[in-house]
Amino acid sequence: MIRLRDLNFEYGDGGFSLRVPEFSVERGERIAIVGPSGSGKTTLLHLMSGIVLPQRGCVEIGGADWLALAEAERRALRIRKIGLVFQTFELLEYLRVFDNILLPYRIHRSLRLESTCRARAAELAEQMGVGDQLERYPTQLSQGERQRVAVCRALVTEPDLILADEPTGNLDPANKRRVLERLIACAERRNATLVLVTHDRDLLDRFERVVDVKAFSGTGSP
Ligand code: ADP
Ligand code: MG
Repeated sequence: MIRLRDLNFEYGDGGFSLRVPEFSVERGERIAIVGPSGSGKTTLLHLMSGIVLPQRGCVEIGGADWLALAEAERRALRIRKIGLVFQTFELLEYLRVFDNILLPYRIHRSLRLESTCRARAAELAEQMGVGDQLERYPTQLSQGERQRVAVCRALVTEPDLILADEPTGNLDPANKRRVLERLIACAERRNATLVLVTHDRDLLDRFERVVDVKAFSGTGSP
């Protein structure tokens, strides 16, 4: 499902780099990415989702190489195949929660907004404990509620690949479990791949593989 090879990435200012000789994640696999703050976890997820591109090497998703695609094709692939939970949520403040969850359908014509999508959005919100917030705006929610809305949005398209960046970082223990179990259940139902960044050692027993991003840190190597 995901394959990184001979990858070399650095931010324009040259301050931080990642090197990944070889790394792959199979379809249906469930992996956790760990590492201290600033070690490159978010950068790695952004590379996997084609939001940032490496200077060298390849990042393939379902056989498609991000670097070989035009920007429009990257957008189409991302929106159709990937459910991304941003660490910073990236909710749109001027849209109600319900419309934020349905955003993928509004921003790309390849996804059709049908009544089943609305029903799924409402059901996900219910399962995440934000079902009574659908008519409100993100600014009227707590951080933890916003985070759960961001998770709903990532799941609503039933993606083949779920990339979640500390999706439980703002939640209390009960909600942490609930959100994690829901992410896992959604992934399992469709044999989707789940890649989840977390600081939470308690959650690691639910993953088949735990990867420390420090292994990919370019610092110190020539
Ligand atoms: P983590 O998610 O593990 O906390 P990040 O991937 O966000 O780490 O960041 C890794 C490193 O890259 C940090 O040192 C951070 O300052 C740097 N960094 C992140 N985004 C940018 C950017 N857009 N430009 C330059 N440096 C960045
Ligand atoms: Mg991060």
